[in-house]
This record gives sequence, C-alpha cells and structure tokens, in this order.
Amino acid sequence: RGGQVERKIPFAEPGNLTRVIAVASGKGGVGKSSVTVNLALALAKQGRSVGILDADIYGHSIPDLLGLGDARPTVVDDMILPVPAIGGLKVISVGMLKPSRDQVVAWRGPILDRALTQLLADVYWGDLDYLLLDLPPGTGDVAMSLGQKIPTSEVLVVTTPQSAASEVAERAGTMAHILEQRVLGVVENMSWLETLCPHCGQTHRIELFGAGGGTLVAGALTERLVYDVPLLTQVPFDEALLAGGDRGTPIVETHPDHPAAAAIIELAARVA
Ligand code: ADP
Repeated sequence: RGGQVERKIPFAEPGNLTRVIAVASGKGGVGKSSVTVNLALALAKQGRSVGILDADIYGHSIPDLLGLGDARPTVVDDMILPVPAIGGLKVISVGMLKPSRDQVVAWRGPILDRALTQLLADVYWGDLDYLLLDLPPGTGDVAMSLGQKIPTSEVLVVTTPQSAASEVAERAGTMAHILEQRVLGVVENMSWLETLCPHCGQTHRIELFGAGGGTLVAGALTERLVYDVPLLTQVPFDEALLAGGDRGTPIVETHPDHPAAAAIIELAARVA
C-alpha cells in the first residue's frame, strides 16, 4: 500500500480541527505516559473525543496503563480502527504493530518514518477533538519526524523536580521550538509525597526528588522561546497512580479526588 505515493496526514491538512498535543520528556521514567493517559481521560470527561497515539518505540506502555492487554486494532478493508479504551478513548500503539509482545521495535530512519505516517494516515480516528502523542523520551527520530509531519502540533514537556531531569527536559522543549511547534507548558511530576506524620499528626510534603525542576524548565523555555511557557501543574507522587498504572486503571478514573488526579484534571482545563 502507498508505494511511493506520499500519504496525506489528515491532522496536517488545512482546516483540520483536531488539536494534536505531543507529550515529551527529556528522559524515561518521569511519568510521561502516565500523564498522557490521565490527561486523555480528563479531556474525555470534559466531553471531548480523544485519541492516543503511543509513539514511544522504546517504552510503548500506553496499552498496559489502560489495561488493554494484547488488544490489536481491527482492520476493515484498508482502514485500521483504533482500539477502544476506558472513557471512550481511542488508542493505537506502535507496540500493536509488533508480531508478538516480547519482540522489540527496532525501526530507524525511513522505516520508522513510514510506520509513523501509516499510524497517522491509515488509522480511522473519526472526528477527534484531541490526539495525544506519547513521544519516546529525549530528542530522537520520532519526535523530529512527528514534529515535521504535523507542524501544528503542540507540545507538553514533562519533567521531575530534580535539576538533572530538568536540563534534559529543557532540550526536549528547545527541539519542539526548532520544529516550530508551540510549547504549551511544563508538567512537573512526582513533585512531592504527602504523608501523615506519625509524630505530630500533621500532613507533610516530602520532596522525594528535590524541588524546582518544573519552574526551572518553564523559565528556561520562556527565555529561549520568547513567549510564556508556564509551569501548568505539579503532580504529586501517589501510590494509587502507581498501582493504577500496574492495573491498567488510571487514577483520574479511580481516584479523581486525589491531589495527583486533581492536578491532571486541572491540567486538562488549562490545556483545553
Ligand atoms: P515515562 O512514560 O516517562 O517513562 P511512566 O508514565 O511509564 O514514565 O511512569 C514510570 C513509573 O512511574 C510507572 O510505574 C508509573 O506508574 C510511575 N509514576 C508516574 N508518575 C507517578 C506519580 N505521580 N506517582 C506515583 N507513581 C508514578
């Protein structure tokens, strides 16, 4: 299919109404995918139609975070139908293109590019209000390819509070800027852990991973990009978020009253 013909990506066509938001991070393990699924669900709860394209070729953890197991897209004629998930989300993961779960995705260059084009052009997403792209960590081929394919896509940068993480996160934001994508703002994840002190009976915030990373990245990007790149929200460490990730039940669905869920619901309101 397609042959040498350049495939048209609907999201890049003039007049397309879907907002494409890429979720980026400087390094892995900062909670980029957790933020993506919970943000998607929070937007869906506002009544929006939301798709997720898991383009993290190394991690592709979105199906697990949503409890989709080994679900595969349905193919009807030459259309690929995304997998339906909780809250009406529509999901496609690069992992779903693998013949089996234990194989790795080892694409580079032109093959990677063609696979991404197929996921954007041949998947029948229907009318989406939002398409969230879960990028691989760092500033690699996928981020660049997607940024070029959909220059109108916007970018959220996820970081943890420590300064080592914030430096690499800043690079991810700078890369988006080079690709002429608008950086919407910064999400700081695992900002603190709230615990009840056994001694004084008060709630304390323990800063497990230091402090200030989100503010640092937002400030540095604002300076470099010469427009306001705000720190949009701070998501505390939450065991329910961790457990929900393992179980495939996002915290925005199971514990919307938790501060971590509330922070992402607030993010959805700010982004919308
Ligand atoms: P990334 O996509 O950046 O690699 P993930 O979203 O996969 O990161 O998160 C890495 C691990 O950290 C997962 O086990 C996830 O459940 C956990 N995690 C992410 N954010 C939080 C949080 N705020 N509180 C507790 N655990 C979290």
